[in-house]
Amino acid sequence: MAWTDLIRDIPDFPKPGILFKDITPVLADGDAFAEAIGVMAEPWRGVAIDAVVGVEARGFILGAAVARELGVGFVPVRKPGKLPAHTLSLDYGLEYGRDRLEIHVDALPAAARVIVVDDVLATGGTLKAAVQLVEQQGAQVVGTAVLVELGFLDARAGWTHSAPLLASAVY
Ligand code: AMP
Repeated sequence: MAWTDLIRDIPDFPKPGILFKDITPVLADGDAFAEAIGVMAEPWRGVAIDAVVGVEARGFILGAAVARELGVGFVPVRKPGKLPAHTLSLDYGLEYGRDRLEIHVDALPAAARVIVVDDVLATGGTLKAAVQLVEQQGAQVVGTAVLVELGFLDARAGWTHSAPLLASAVY
């Protein structure tokens, strides 16, 4: 069975009308998890990368595994109030309302070359905000990696960053 066969659709979660892409069955299967991480890491093998940045919460699981695969460190981008040391934060707009992401100010050296990882690319707002936050800190985003892209939401059309937007599976 391909790892993509283990991505499960959960209708109306977390609210009516949303088709939630549940990746937990992929994580729970050793072979599928290894294959999925291999696909995410593949484009970055041999590329000069200093760290992988992962977005809370599923971006932590995937990002940490990709970081190990590439032999670099992992840096978390978190929801407000979770990181203990001095943080830099960024407010960004959601479809309804606003949200905020934070990163430790000293997490990345100046001019570090990083890739930003999350599980699902929906509207693209979260990934864009994470990229902006990393760049505000003085690091350079050389790429992004998501496990699943919801192609029908067309986040790609609004992606103006020079870093490639790489998705392992598109729906
Ligand atoms: P967005 O900012 O719209 O691209 O939403 C991306 C974030 O929300 C990611 O961190 C995902 O974990 C989560 N997300 C949004 N839509 C879905 C979905 N249909 N299935 C699973 N996760 C989703």
